[in-house]
Amino acid sequence: MRTVYSNLIDGTWVPSVSGNVFENRNPADDADVIGVFQKSTAADAARAVDAARRAFAHWRLVPAPKRAELLFRAAQLLAERKEALARDMTREMGKVLDETRGDVQEAIDMTYFMAGEGRRQYGQTVPSELRDKFAMSIRQPVGVCAIITPWNFPMAIPSWKIIPALVCGNTVVFKPATLTPLSAINFVKILEEAGIPPGVVNLVTGGGGDVGNALLVSDAVRVVSFTGSTEVGRIVSEQAAPSFKKVHLEMGGKNVIMIMEDANLELAVEGCLWGGFGTSGQRCTAASRVVVHEKVYRQFLDQFVARAAALRVGDGLDPATQMGPSISRGQLDTVIKYVEIGRQEGARLACGGHALSSGAHARGFFHEPTIFADVAASMRIAQEEIFGPVVSVIPCRSYEQAVTIGNGVQYGLSASIYTQDVNRAFAAMRDMDTGIFYVNAPTIGAEVHLPFGGTKSTGNGHREAGTAALDVFSEWKSVYVDFSSKLQRAQIDTADL
Ligand code: NAD
Repeated sequence: MRTVYSNLIDGTWVPSVSGNVFENRNPADDADVIGVFQKSTAADAARAVDAARRAFAHWRLVPAPKRAELLFRAAQLLAERKEALARDMTREMGKVLDETRGDVQEAIDMTYFMAGEGRRQYGQTVPSELRDKFAMSIRQPVGVCAIITPWNFPMAIPSWKIIPALVCGNTVVFKPATLTPLSAINFVKILEEAGIPPGVVNLVTGGGGDVGNALLVSDAVRVVSFTGSTEVGRIVSEQAAPSFKKVHLEMGGKNVIMIMEDANLELAVEGCLWGGFGTSGQRCTAASRVVVHEKVYRQFLDQFVARAAALRVGDGLDPATQMGPSISRGQLDTVIKYVEIGRQEGARLACGGHALSSGAHARGFFHEPTIFADVAASMRIAQEEIFGPVVSVIPCRSYEQAVTIGNGVQYGLSASIYTQDVNRAFAAMRDMDTGIFYVNAPTIGAEVHLPFGGTKSTGNGHREAGTAALDVFSEWKSVYVDFSSKLQRAQIDTADL
């Protein structure tokens, strides 16, 4: 029996007015239907926006600590159901169970962290330049927020957006990725069960061009928080500009690990395996480039290739599996296309390079862990986001050259350095043009209480996570209270000494 899932609009689970649905299947086993979901239209999006607009009138006045109580409850429910949520996610999205447990854990952490902001959301109280005048700043909710998310972190990324939006007093219309609607529904059901009132969180499944676009052009939507590709992010930015929405974009990456001649090589190999092949390379922070000092290049490459070739690829629900499938046929085709591009560009295929399509892999979108060696920094495989298990290893002669190569891409999400030299570690921390930087760790591993995001074509200056996320989902209001009972003119009248 195929379960049919609905949209959540104004507290009621309803089908799309289009009457159309779509099927979602397990990327590790194409015969396994996860469920049937609403193929919504602009009309569904408009109804959800209207519900969110009406709910805002009430929700913005609920005291933030009270809003937070519901979020603490939601965090508890997420923690209690972590295992079942992770299993659903692995079936839906493919990454191995350890990683989907981590994805749910990130949502738990974010929900607890942001619920704590219910009693903070600090503003500033400052002395006025005039007598008998009080000056302070407060955070105010913005209104209806459109939340548009990708498939690679089906619960963590929605939580990074929805939870800070709610604690600040906004209402939400959530359009999840078409490839991971079940995890989105699981998350929203928990918010509903925790007591979030009708209309405060609305969920509409369906395509980006239909539902997503309708949200971008709606005058009632005041914030758009988008995570996805740079290509779609540009469209989002353009569509939302005429109505001056607040637009928060988290986009692509081409992250680098730099390995210096004094690095602990075993540690660096471990980091490159996790950074390059975790989530089958489908993380925005995946280490798809490794720049290695020529003095240790051979030694590193031999170890890295031996370890990558031994990774067990398969169904993420199998505890023996170390790397799952690509999310879809389309994504696998992209990987295959880039492997061919790498060959034609003259990079040396050091391991992998093939899709896996027989035996246990016959019904999924599997690909071997793939390493290209002797890659030139200008090659397309070292410049463009592949979003698959393909790592380019690039030799360098010095720290300075590693930094030049590392920064020589259009993206600026995450970078890391392996070195024992504290001076170099700090210099690299300063020199890398990225939003996230690691020392002696791979490019992945962000924690929810620090800002997350990137520079250049990765972002547009905002950050999610940490208290920085509050700046996306609130407006500052500066408040002056004059209790002098007379007109006092700032910058013109002076206070007596
Ligand atoms: P995508 O850009 O294809 O889709 C992202 C979302 O946008 C989906 O919900 C999609 O339906 C929607 N969308 C598509 N077209 C739209 C339109 N015209 N208007 C409005 N919405 C539209 O990305 P994806 O394939 O789901 O995810 C992979 C990408 O996400 C990679 O580029 C990855 O680097 C990026 N990503 C970035 C971060 C980050 O924090 N920087 C995190 C995770 C993923």
